[in-house]
Amino acid sequence: MIDQLYRKAVLTVAERKPIEHLIRARGWGLAQRFVAGETIDGALKAVKDLSAEGILSNLDLLGEFIESPAQCDEFAQNVLNLLDAAHAQGITPYVSIKLSSVGQGKTEGGEDLGLKNARRIVGKARQYGGFVCLDMEDHPRVDQTLAQFRTLVGEFGAQHVGTVLQSYLYRTEADRNALDDLQPNLRIVKGAYLEPESVAMPDKADVDAAYRRLVYAHMNAGHYVNVATHDESIIADVKHFVLAHGVSKDAFEFQMLYGIRRDLQKQLAQEGYRVRAYIPYGRDWYAYFSRRIAERPGNAMFVLKGMLKG
Ligand SMILES: Cc1cc2nc3c(=O)[nH]c(=O)nc-3n(C[C@H](O)[C@H](O)[C@H](O)COP(=O)(O)OP(=O)(O)OC[C@H]3O[C@@H](n4cnc5c(N)ncnc54)[C@H](O)[C@@H]3O)c2cc1C
Repeated sequence: MIDQLYRKAVLTVAERKPIEHLIRARGWGLAQRFVAGETIDGALKAVKDLSAEGILSNLDLLGEFIESPAQCDEFAQNVLNLLDAAHAQGITPYVSIKLSSVGQGKTEGGEDLGLKNARRIVGKARQYGGFVCLDMEDHPRVDQTLAQFRTLVGEFGAQHVGTVLQSYLYRTEADRNALDDLQPNLRIVKGAYLEPESVAMPDKADVDAAYRRLVYAHMNAGHYVNVATHDESIIADVKHFVLAHGVSKDAFEFQMLYGIRRDLQKQLAQEGYRVRAYIPYGRDWYAYFSRRIAERPGNAMFVLKGMLKG
């Protein structure tokens, strides 16, 4: 509950225009702890640096205020450019996209623009042997995202497209069961949005317990799991679970955000686990940066100290 209040307070302050202007003007140096760069080259450099440490990557082009169909198409084109650039540099592309950024919910020629653009992106990723994960957004988008995920798996195969389930939603265990026939590659997260208590569990202990159940259920079903968390106690429990149930190290991976718990990312990679960092990049870093600050009081202190130092 206190976690929720803190998060809400930070996100409310962050939405204030003067704060946004101040942080945009003076905060880029600080944001670079969480954002790999403003350009494709910066992002691909981060991929190579992490690869040298045995850590895999998942690239995420940041986008804000993408509203018109033309902006959605432009955003999709920028993701396609990223796939081309990665391939040209010998990197098998693995990217995440938010369907809202490419037009989900907007109709064009009788078809959902988000699905149309996602097809272009997943199609190109498949051409390069790559993978696209459909990030999960706030709860009103879950039904459509899961339906579009099902369509894309049908067209391109589960080895080229995955999606995300959030353990804080009451509906999620039923959603996971309903996806089983696709043998889906799923990323399990706790959930990052401020959701009402009518749809999401307010208590962290319940969210954490649901998280474990989801990971174990997906492993027991024999499908690939992306254990996306920085929670050391969950990571320790997952390690015990895989040992006890004979789940092989190539049937799952740990995922963490770029710049967060780098020590733990390296340690897990050294122990022989697959580890993938989620690497955001792009000029629209402000909203992403605010969400990371809102997750942890220590991050807010880091920003305040940095701003005071000038
Ligand atoms: C790879 C990846 C992809 C994600 N994709 C999505 C998505 O598609 N949709 C969605 O809703 N959410 C997504 N999330 C966010 C997720 O839902 C959580 O909000 C976020 O991961 C924090 O929860 P946690 O599991 O780390 O556990 P928490 O219980 O929040 O944190 C556990 C511990 O991790 C550390 N920690 C957590 N966050 C931070 C931080 N910002 N800075 C420093 N330390 C921190 C702290 O030490 C904390 O005690 C994603 C997260 C990851 C790692």
